[in-house]
Amino acid sequence: MSTIKELIAQFREVADNPKKAMDDYKKETGKGAVGIMPVYCPEEIVHAAGYLPMGMWGAQKKNISKARSFLPPFACSVMQSVMELQLDGVYDELDAVIFSVPCDTLKCMSQKWKGKAPQIVFTHPQNRKMAMSAANVFAREEYAILKQKLEDILDVRISVKALKNSIAVYNENRAACREFSDLVAENPGLISLKDRHAVIKARWFMEKSRHTAMLKELNDLIRSADKVPFSGKRVVVSGILLEPDEVLDIFEEFGFAIVADDLAQETRNFRQDVPEDADPLMALAKAWTAFDGCSLATDADKPKGDILINAVKKYNADAVIVCMMKFCDPEEFDYPILLQQFAAAGVKNLQIEIDQETTSFEQVRTRLQTFSEVL
Ligand code: SF4
Repeated sequence: MSTIKELIAQFREVADNPKKAMDDYKKETGKGAVGIMPVYCPEEIVHAAGYLPMGMWGAQKKNISKARSFLPPFACSVMQSVMELQLDGVYDELDAVIFSVPCDTLKCMSQKWKGKAPQIVFTHPQNRKMAMSAANVFAREEYAILKQKLEDILDVRISVKALKNSIAVYNENRAACREFSDLVAENPGLISLKDRHAVIKARWFMEKSRHTAMLKELNDLIRSADKVPFSGKRVVVSGILLEPDEVLDIFEEFGFAIVADDLAQETRNFRQDVPEDADPLMALAKAWTAFDGCSLATDADKPKGDILINAVKKYNADAVIVCMMKFCDPEEFDYPILLQQFAAAGVKNLQIEIDQETTSFEQVRTRLQTFSEVL
């Protein structure tokens, strides 16, 4: 039986080497991989085709230059990084790339995609709550078109049975991820923030049932581990993603433990299951219209603040730290509303900026140090 350390090392190996994970999958299965652009995609359709869905979340990359020919300097940091990687040929071995286009930057990216892999663009309905049934029908139709295009590109047929099985596989993985996050919150001194992140990030580059099997083993070990004394501050983090490891190290340096996250790369992608439905495409559509708490899933009632405030209460957290992706318009537009909701609920909070182009984290360090002293 593996130890916690050994299992985490395996997750880290995948999270740090997505290309190797993809090559290994190709060798094992004889199938390929499909790129999944942030932020939300019915990945189950790719899984049901037998291909490996690969998250495309950019990378810490200084000296972004080529991307500037295609994106304005005020496009968000993660897409600058993805564009640069694309122009470097990093995504050329993918068999297709799937784009949802909920923000202006992603719309531009989908129109300027120059990679070798054919692209599939689809739209999530945004008028989700006022006309629920119409939104479901629209989303289902978009997913049906996506499925058809994927079948044509990959020359495969995706059966209803395979898609239902993939939904079940994904729901099981989501449950294991939620349990992992909760177990880490119960014993915050046990797992470092970098390791928590690596375990969750690896799910973007692994066949999900494999990730689930390893994660269940890890969860069992964490559940039976001794409590490690922890006297720091417990925080809930929100944003698109929280990287690189240097930033997580600074969190730890000033005694912060992440007891829950509301990150698009992490919990927002496994917070809820896909419901059961005789029609699996409709099940996926219903999951989108029921999804809440992200600036990319429009809801005029703005439930994200309540979701975060409830997480603070549930996990006995000291504060919320909003990790704002540099130049992410949708998240920036929602931030003033969040501030009002935090003030009304008496929730202490801080904002830091996430920039995939920087190599200097002194501003983040200063803000986290000051905040830890304030708390
Ligand atoms: S949601 Fe924000 S971070 Fe994501 S692509 Fe759009 S602007 Fe960039």
